[in-house]
Amino acid sequence: MTDLETLSRRLEGQPPGAVLAAALDLWPEAALACSLGLEDVALVHLASQLARPPRIFVLDTGRLHPETYDVLAALRRRYGLPIQLYFPEARAVEAFVDANGPNAFRDSLELRRACCRIRKVEPLARALAGAPAWITGLRRAQGPTREASRLFEADPAHGGIVKISPLLDWSLAQVRALVAEQHIPYNPLHDQGYPSIGCAPCTRAVAEGEDERAGRWWWENPEHKECGLHRRPNPGAQP
Ligand code: SF4
Repeated sequence: MTDLETLSRRLEGQPPGAVLAAALDLWPEAALACSLGLEDVALVHLASQLARPPRIFVLDTGRLHPETYDVLAALRRRYGLPIQLYFPEARAVEAFVDANGPNAFRDSLELRRACCRIRKVEPLARALAGAPAWITGLRRAQGPTREASRLFEADPAHGGIVKISPLLDWSLAQVRALVAEQHIPYNPLHDQGYPSIGCAPCTRAVAEGEDERAGRWWWENPEHKECGLHRRPNPGAQP
């Protein structure tokens, strides 16, 4: 079995493309979870450079910005790679909205987490079923919930499969530079004060000096700012 901590240390400081290539040598069936945000379009670009790109998927929550769908269309045109979509279970969405209304996520932390579970967490579990590893655009600088992440780590939230974060130690400026240099399609909202983009009703622009993820669920405490996709064992950090 690969020692993930040793692997993380060995590849620390390597360019993200090299980390991605090494990861796919070890886990060729790894899947790339693409949120269509800046980090993930960069990963799609890096993946497209490989002889055998990973499977790429997008979770379509049904509440994304129109601009986000334009990014999806542009990526498909530019790279010609298959990008699988995973939708929430329609019956679960219907029942939740019937019971709680269309914007229940603002009413309580529990309802917000329930909405994320239906629209993101359950579809992610389906997308990852059978995969030995998944590739994410996590960066340490994104906020307090991500500081302790490793390049390679076991993901107990998804059956202990390997979670790979090739951009972990990159800054937002480095990601932006790659996207600009390589003319990678990206969401224009990133130029309007949105460093992190999720569902439209749960994302706002951030002010100068605010944390990168301050605009996600901005009405909640910073330690709650995850949707459950990147749950960590530390009980204080995640839902
Ligand atoms: Fe629901 Fe908001 Fe979570 Fe999207 S980000 S799944 S709209 S609570």
